[in-house]
Amino acid sequence: MYRFLIFDLDETLYPRQAGLMQEIGVRINRYLIENLRLPPEQANELRKRYYNQHGTALRGLVVERPDVDPEDYLHFVHDIPLANYLGPNPLLAQMLRSISLPKVIFTNATIEHAQNVLNVLGVADQFADIIDVRRVAYVSKPNAGAYEQLLNILQVRGDECILVEDSVRNLLPGKALGMTTILVDSEDCAEVDYCVHDILSVKPVVAALLRQPPDRLTS
Ligand SMILES: [Mg+2]
Repeated sequence: MYRFLIFDLDETLYPRQAGLMQEIGVRINRYLIENLRLPPEQANELRKRYYNQHGTALRGLVVERPDVDPEDYLHFVHDIPLANYLGPNPLLAQMLRSISLPKVIFTNATIEHAQNVLNVLGVADQFADIIDVRRVAYVSKPNAGAYEQLLNILQVRGDECILVEDSVRNLLPGKALGMTTILVDSEDCAEVDYCVHDILSVKPVVAALLRQPPDRLTS
């Protein structure tokens, strides 16, 4: 039995073309340039290395740079006027409302950023909870520890969750814990359970899953 429908936030609830994450990326580079006093090229290289080695720039800073305050970083990179990038999405609100399963947000960002995005999209009232990067002790996706803490917070097993994400990399650790995985904005289902063209197409997949729970091994 499924108990939670878990959504990533950025570029899952709104399309990549919105350009918001690109702007956050620009601000991540700016933070590294200004606070670590790196030339732009080195900042870019460091960001890439953190992404490959630690999953996110934040995780890289937390692990390798105890002199950097993660809260200062998180505030800086998300300090963006969201209304320039996003607007209300009544169809998304309607879609979420039509799914009876409790919905939660699982994001590498902060709860403030998540609440701001949900408010601009007009879907804040559709989510039972927001698990942000603070609540998993700054262990970002795709590190396995983030997903283990998520399950612990929700008091569920992986196979009781459906995880919706725009990133294959962030779905795989969930799948390894037994979650049913839905990749948004992709036609490449090779490594995940389902892939859909856009967020509204999640609805029929979830509806079918709720009608037909997956086979379980019985002891
Ligand atoms: Mg995302």
